[in-house]
Amino acid sequence: MQDIDSLFPSIGEMRSIEDQLSQKLADVRQRSMTRRTTPEPLSPDWLANLKSKSFDQTEELSVAMDWVIEALETGIVQMTHPGHLGLFNPSPNFASECADRIVSAFNPQVCVYTHAPAAVEIERHTINQIALKIGMPAESEGHFTSGGAEANATSVLCALQAKFPDYGEDGLMSLGSQPMIYVSAESHLAWLKIAHSVGIGRRAVRLIATDGQGRMDADCLTSTLERDVESGLAPVMIAATAGTTNAGMIDPLAECRAMADRFGLWLHVDAAWGGALIASPKHRSNLSGIENADSITLDAHKWFATTMGTGIFFTSRPEILGNVFRVSASYMPESDSSKDYYSNSMQWSRRFIGLKMFLALCSAGWNGFAEHVERSIRLTDRLAESLATGGWTRVNSSPMGVACFVPPKGNADVDRCVNAVHGDGRFWVSKAKFEGQSVLRACVTNGRTDEETIDRLGSFLASL
Ligand SMILES: *Cc1c(COP(=O)(O)O)cnc(C)c1O
Repeated sequence: MQDIDSLFPSIGEMRSIEDQLSQKLADVRQRSMTRRTTPEPLSPDWLANLKSKSFDQTEELSVAMDWVIEALETGIVQMTHPGHLGLFNPSPNFASECADRIVSAFNPQVCVYTHAPAAVEIERHTINQIALKIGMPAESEGHFTSGGAEANATSVLCALQAKFPDYGEDGLMSLGSQPMIYVSAESHLAWLKIAHSVGIGRRAVRLIATDGQGRMDADCLTSTLERDVESGLAPVMIAATAGTTNAGMIDPLAECRAMADRFGLWLHVDAAWGGALIASPKHRSNLSGIENADSITLDAHKWFATTMGTGIFFTSRPEILGNVFRVSASYMPESDSSKDYYSNSMQWSRRFIGLKMFLALCSAGWNGFAEHVERSIRLTDRLAESLATGGWTRVNSSPMGVACFVPPKGNADVDRCVNAVHGDGRFWVSKAKFEGQSVLRACVTNGRTDEETIDRLGSFLASL
């Protein structure tokens, strides 16, 4: 067998290797239920072995895959473990795993409509249905992104374009004043990176004070905007967070809309993980007002539990997107550019990302996601109740599946408690800052977590 045959094996060989891989992954899943949640330190032998792979010599693909699978079983935080209560990284929903395999087998090029009409229509339909569920205006459009950070970066570009129609041609230097964006001090700090890379600079990000409960203080927003306008700065966008990363708090969306209207600004709502509440008729009202945003970020790879790399950007002003990302290239086929993702989104060659959400929605329906979200919230409340009896205090009042706790001995004891949890290995929680204080954060968005796990964690924490 030639080395090149490893890249393109026969159909028969592919089938045999894939069948074996499926068996192995099924075993991996079985073992994942009882594995330690925390990674073991990488051994010097393992690292030496890794570094010895200079790729001058080859090994069987199946041997290399076994080596990788074994490494991942101990060398990463185990997202698929029922006790993993961290950072929204989900136990992926199975439909999205299947989608990943299908997409790999076809590898459609989704950036041009005519190359992948079936794939693009599936993505467009999925986006439309989610936008409808959010309650956005009918003309709204959007696209799948690599994640929330890309979607948020897209919102800044749209805001600049909307405010300064010539900025795309003439650049920031032509503006004559410094563009500013407004986010809360508890927002996701990718905003700073975005401001840096977009070219408005990190100091263009105004971190508006919060109200003691992790929500943007509307009065502080107003006075900051008034002051900035007075001193000749150029506000372009308010980005409200609907579900802060650390504590699941929601900025006052109606006030943010009113301020955006008063100052002529783009309103973005970063609902990267909290947006999942749209699925639940019971909890949807917490997001009231989100439908009036100019643009929205929603990460399917968080609370909707698709595999990684599935963000979504929505906008009720799609013509702006077409303006920001417009392009004409002689080597690209001519077609209806409104359906060509290369000319209305950041990425060019692009994976058929949206199939993950499509298959999950086909098989579980909105109702399945509603149950998933509601169960998360129930389990979060269950943990909070059990900890309250043990003297722990929940400090965030989020309507979502995340709770921030202070141990009975106070904030200074958080490190010890989190280390004890990681040392035990049956659960995974994180350390976070909420309104300046150190807290233990349990994010119960993992679809594999059950009552038993929550109760065991509750007793373990109470015993510390
Ligand atoms: C996770 C998160 C992001 C970043 O999204 P990625 O998918 O990690 O790029 C942005 N905003 C909020 C509120 C988030 O929780």
